Amino acid sequence: MEKEYCRICGYRLGFEPWGDDGKTPTYEICPCCGVEFGNEDCTMKSIKEYRKSWIKSGCKWFDPSKRATTWSWENQQRHIPREFR
Ligand SMILES: [Zn+2]
Repeated sequence: MEKEYCRICGYRLGFEPWGDDGKTPTYEICPCCGVEFGNEDCTMKSIKEYRKSWIKSGCKWFDPSKRATTWSWENQQRHIPREFR
């Protein structure tokens, strides 16, 4: 289950952004933080940097139509997979 969440923002994607084995990125775009799986989320360093700049820019949604009205960053960040925090 944890594999279905974005490594950057913890959004529940409904698919595994890095594939079944966690090593095969899909190169899809996260509708929330806009990361491209297999690009900015490749290393711990790039994950932290991307997350930091996304937060700094006000947690803007890449695809605002997917944003639930009750959405909050405070709640969602709890779903970031443990090893990528
Ligand atoms: Zn994301």
